[in-house]
Amino acid sequence: MEGSPRLRMLSYVVIIYMLLAFSWWSVLLYVKNNDAFEAKTTYLKLIKIGSKQVNSESEFLLSPEYLDLRSKYKRQEYMIFGEAIVFIFSLMAGIWLINRGYHREVQLARQKRNFLLSVTHELKSPLASIRLILETVQKRKLSEEQKQQLTESGIKENDRLTTLVNNLLTATRLETIYKPTKEPINILTLVDEEINRLKLLHPGRKLNLKKENSLPEMNLDRTGIVSVISNLVENAIKYSNENTEVDIQISLKEDNLLIQVADHGIGIDLEEKQKIFTQFYRSGNEDTRNTKGTGLGLYIVKQIVAAHKGKIKVKENFPTGTIFEVTLPLNQ
Ligand code: ADP
Repeated sequence: MEGSPRLRMLSYVVIIYMLLAFSWWSVLLYVKNNDAFEAKTTYLKLIKIGSKQVNSESEFLLSPEYLDLRSKYKRQEYMIFGEAIVFIFSLMAGIWLINRGYHREVQLARQKRNFLLSVTHELKSPLASIRLILETVQKRKLSEEQKQQLTESGIKENDRLTTLVNNLLTATRLETIYKPTKEPINILTLVDEEINRLKLLHPGRKLNLKKENSLPEMNLDRTGIVSVISNLVENAIKYSNENTEVDIQISLKEDNLLIQVADHGIGIDLEEKQKIFTQFYRSGNEDTRNTKGTGLGLYIVKQIVAAHKGKIKVKENFPTGTIFEVTLPLNQ
């Protein structure tokens, strides 16, 4: 990264030099072209007058040889202008591309740094909690109820670690070749099971599931679809207030299965809507942010949905919040 701004500056200097040099050459060429035209005109005029082919200046200016000469040099003049314009546009496009590449690089570096910071944090905090729990169990005499509570917290921390590791593994798998392993699935049962698991993980939150009474079996990648639902619902929980509800809806829309996850949380800015699906992207800065995450969730969701020939959309919820909408063709 260090060399990048310097490289960019160097590219600008070279481009500006090229621009100036080219402008100078264009002007010179234009002037020389004019000089050549005038010299040839004088020569032609002398020959024509000398051989008495024309008697006056105005007659010479109307002669076919002069008109030919003039149109030839005019064409050359246009060519010089045309070339200059194309060259300047190419240079401008070059500057634009360099700038864009540079900004992308900076953004990627920032995202990677954020990613490392958050993964380190995400790994360290459950490990520290599990250690504390184990130490408490080891050193103190605890009632059966206390033991139960501590074990439950330990399991939750363990689940957090498992989710993180799973997300990291899925993202790596997606980077190489992700081919969904499809099998006939009853989507309603799968969603029921997943929402129940999430309810147990977030006992304080209200998750409302609305679904069709029956749906045809679909050929889907089980782990992939579970990952789509859990990532969307976990995000809805994470980016909304504790006392707001999250609505999950499973329905049919024409020949598609429609999965909607809606929250009444902080919402997503218009300009962020495209970015959130890129790998490692998290809005805000890791040093100031207080939500946990890796910026992989929605990237994974998008890849899995695409592998099922589906689409994902993000919309605003009313009065606040976000709705994520996944459509998957019934015919897989
Ligand atoms: P993570 O949640 O680990 O940061 P994601 O890829 O799941 O990564 O999400 C990327 C970003 O999209 C988040 O950092 C957050 O800014 C935004 N986001 C995702 N879901 C929601 C939501 N339901 N409400 C508001 N913002 C969201």
